[in-house]
Amino acid sequence: MSPSRTRVALLGATGSIGTQTLDVLREAGDAFELVSIAGGQRLAELGAIAKEFNVRNVGVVSDRDAEELKRLTGSDVDIVVGAKGLSELATSGDVIVNAVVGFAGLPVTLSALAAGKRLALANKESLIAAAPLVQQVRDTPGASILPIDSEHCAIYQCLAGSTNVGHPDVRMIHLTASGGPFRGKTKEQLARVSKLEALQHPTWSMGPKITIDSSTLMNKGLEVLEASALFGIEAPRVDVVVHPQSIVHSMVEYVDGAVIAQLSLPDMRLPIAYCLGAPVRLDQGWGRMDFHASLRLDFEAPDREAFPALELAYEAARLGGAAPAWLSAANEIAVEAFLNDQISWSRIAEIVAAVLELYVACELSTMDELFDNDATARRLAHGMVTA
Ligand code: NAD
Ligand code: MG
Repeated sequence: MSPSRTRVALLGATGSIGTQTLDVLREAGDAFELVSIAGGQRLAELGAIAKEFNVRNVGVVSDRDAEELKRLTGSDVDIVVGAKGLSELATSGDVIVNAVVGFAGLPVTLSALAAGKRLALANKESLIAAAPLVQQVRDTPGASILPIDSEHCAIYQCLAGSTNVGHPDVRMIHLTASGGPFRGKTKEQLARVSKLEALQHPTWSMGPKITIDSSTLMNKGLEVLEASALFGIEAPRVDVVVHPQSIVHSMVEYVDGAVIAQLSLPDMRLPIAYCLGAPVRLDQGWGRMDFHASLRLDFEAPDREAFPALELAYEAARLGGAAPAWLSAANEIAVEAFLNDQISWSRIAEIVAAVLELYVACELSTMDELFDNDATARRLAHGMVTA
């Protein structure tokens, strides 16, 4: 084994980002070594990944899952359980890929940074909910965040020309949004959309939670908060523009009027490979463009009335403190309820709005405060789901 191999921990290995990360690792051959994986379900797949990549450390959610995985894999792997297990695995490589979905990804984000690791971050929910706590560990020597989220990875690359902390030379960030499956629909039409329709994303194939978030534009709202936390740029300077082709992955507009963009066909393996390899670009070519074929790039303003979730995210940014944690927690509960056929599509944003109305200003400086706020917002959202 060559000593220069980059050791990778992939937490959330069986999901959409997880399996695409495995594609990048397969393509890269010897440059990387997968040392740890974790997953919430699909234990047979988790076991198969451990086998294929010869991974020793595996995280699962419960003791029951641990027993089942042991049965599937024999005694070849060391199994850790729950949030504590995720925290341990998040310190076990050079690069930690956080591909867990939702607030459950928090231990990965915090432990990886506290251990001075490179965090390749897909799990936006942890950063949004815990932004002040993440800032506390972000300065740990050796720690860095490389965003996998395609828009933020694009912005990261476009900001390479900006040298100053706080980016005073940046006028605006333009976050692009595909518009999701319901672009162009009116509020009245949206009141009748089905789960099946909401799960049909026009340009990206992703896990169910983010696919629903894309249909409500909450995903873009969360991404505004994510961009603000990642790059230290206040939310009003992060604009959202609908770009149905999903080719321009975002743009940075500088004060002199120059706009820098990153383009590629929509393929998450490109930002994943960027985060694994940086500052070296891996010679893989996911999402390569053919500029000799006809190409059309459209841009339009989002319909903020039909998609109120977007404005709710700006409101959470204005409120500050624990408000983004409330927004994200309430949204998780509402999306889960929608996926379980308990509420209609329109109720998702209504519930998030109603929970945010009840927000009581609170600064976030400790984990206890974060867990309290998260639990309160979830309880309120649950109550509205079942009311
Ligand atoms: P997914 O539902 O396909 O996969 C989620 C993964 O997390 C699975 O492996 C699941 O087993 C695991 N998981 C869930 N709960 C867990 C727990 N408690 N402990 C350990 N593992 C657990 O989701 P996804 O689409 O891959 O998204 C993952 C994250 O990446 C989300 O935060 C999403 O917003 C973000 N993201 C995804 C995409 C995409 O293209 N899929 C793009 C940008 C950002
Ligand atoms: Mg995105």
